[in-house]
Amino acid sequence: MGLSLPRILILDTGGTISQTASADGSLVPCSTDYIEMVPRLHDIARLEVLRLERMDSSDMTSILRMEMARLIYENYDGFDGFVVIHGTDTMVETAAALSYMVQNLGKPVVLTGAQLPIFAPGPDGLNNLYYSVKAASMDLGEVVICFGDRILRGNRSIKENVHGFNAFHSFRVPPLGELGVSVRLLDHRIPRSTSRPCFFSSLNSGVLYLPMTSGSSISLLEGLQDYPGLEGLILGGFGSGNLPAHEIPALKKILSRGIPALVITTCLKGHTILSLSGAGRKVSDAGAREGFVLTAAAALQKMMYALGRVGMEQPGFTGHKRMDAVYRLLVEPVGCDLDKSLLPLV
Ligand code: ASP
Repeated sequence: MGLSLPRILILDTGGTISQTASADGSLVPCSTDYIEMVPRLHDIARLEVLRLERMDSSDMTSILRMEMARLIYENYDGFDGFVVIHGTDTMVETAAALSYMVQNLGKPVVLTGAQLPIFAPGPDGLNNLYYSVKAASMDLGEVVICFGDRILRGNRSIKENVHGFNAFHSFRVPPLGELGVSVRLLDHRIPRSTSRPCFFSSLNSGVLYLPMTSGSSISLLEGLQDYPGLEGLILGGFGSGNLPAHEIPALKKILSRGIPALVITTCLKGHTILSLSGAGRKVSDAGAREGFVLTAAAALQKMMYALGRVGMEQPGFTGHKRMDAVYRLLVEPVGCDLDKSLLPLV
């Protein structure tokens, strides 16, 4: 019986699920082997666990994300699916980063964690881990978040709740699956397939996300004009992607250095349409591009991936040549990250 069970590789990076209370009551990572606490986990899968770190995910790095992507790629043939245990705070960033670094997946990569430590009373860590291992053996071929009562597209998700057991949501695409008495997968998911993944190993972390503010006399972009470490910029625009007019001169200066800028909307629903208003046109005339339905997390990680990939594949490209190559990658759909067809109407 055991040998016919699916083989699942768990990458453990910690987060609240693995933490315990310290002397002052705050949660800190602990080293206990908590995966064994989940009842009947070994009845549904043959597990292998790699403990990478036990960290609060606010300290997550691009280096560790690259290591996770490498491990998934290198172990791809030996397993039926992958589970990444992760803190909830930056889980969506890691999910997006993995979807860009390991493309063309034919197997599930399932991220999960918990709102409560697994050692505390409360069911969410045990449930999330159990259902994630189950999801990792199911008919999915993409990076997902399995948490609470839903399975969500990883590169479309946001953390929406600090307290509730449904900590995540994807406002611009319905859940891919529902967890209840049984696990129900929905038709718009990317199914399991025999496709071979491609691996892009490098993230360029010189990227900044700036959501716009209204009424402030301080320009956010002015101080960035000559910032040496800046390689790419994500701007959170109002509504359809508008920026305050007083940011445009500094934006032009940044773009003239060959630094790509992508504008997303800070709204939870809908997408950018820079051509809609004069304010938006000024942004596109300056040379920035629009991120359509990308979340801040996905836009940030996609920019890091695009800069990293151009740097690896076209090391001789500089200035506007490099910027154009990055823009070409940013508008290329990856793992349905730009799919507008399932946008909810309300
Ligand atoms: N601060 C924790 C983390 O992201 C929160 C959690 O896991 O829920 O690691």
